[in-house]
Amino acid sequence: MMCDDAGLLLHAYLDDELDAANSAAMARHLDTCATCKARYDTYTTMHKALAQPTLYHRAPDALRQHWHAASPTSAYTHVPPRRKAPVAVAMAAGFAGALLLSGPAWFQLLRPHGGADPIVAQVISGHVRSLQDQHLMDVVSTDQHTVKPWFEGKLDFSPRVKDLASEGFPLVGGRLDAIDGHSVAALVYKRRLHVINLYQWPMEGAASAQAVTQEHGYTVIRWNADGMRYIAISDVNEGDLKQFVLAFQNEAGAPPAH
Ligand SMILES: [Zn+2]
Repeated sequence: MMCDDAGLLLHAYLDDELDAANSAAMARHLDTCATCKARYDTYTTMHKALAQPTLYHRAPDALRQHWHAASPTSAYTHVPPRRKAPVAVAMAAGFAGALLLSGPAWFQLLRPHGGADPIVAQVISGHVRSLQDQHLMDVVSTDQHTVKPWFEGKLDFSPRVKDLASEGFPLVGGRLDAIDGHSVAALVYKRRLHVINLYQWPMEGAASAQAVTQEHGYTVIRWNADGMRYIAISDVNEGDLKQFVLAFQNEAGAPPAH
């Protein structure tokens, strides 16, 4: 057997799907070819790792209901376990498992549904990305007098930066982000262990009341004030996020502290 053939048959061999003759030929090749053996060992390790039951998590009930509602005849309603999943399927499952493990990214797997606001979707996406890519903050500081100047020269506006630690929402940093085609300032606040992202960018128009949206376990609050568009998002409860917005609005209206 040549390496090319071995490469083609490797997955079937791993899944124990080869006939006796091919299986024996494959075993002989692996005994004599270090390259194919190394590849085999890698796949075997991956295969075992992806079969770990700890990788698999039951989807939250809200997601299951959402999914079932979106696809009532979905084959995903019940998938009987296979004795041996092919590596490709196992990898896909592992990838999905990794997404679940790495945070509430499962919304990305959902199809957009009627009524979904594209801005809200972008904001949720940005929030999740900020938590996943370890790109939560470009400037790490609890000091508003450090965070605010950091944005200078990076944006064509000066964002309003306020530390709200005394209200239970400490500022922890900021970064640049993009929402709806705008370069925006993202301020990062904490509420206990939760992260709040506050996006802001200039927008013409009158001040507007808060619009509160709940989606996929996140609360999004949008409002306009002083020529700026603000969007706050977090997985804290709605009451906490409203309190955050109120604290920010009060502080934003106050003269800058020195
Ligand atoms: Zn080989």
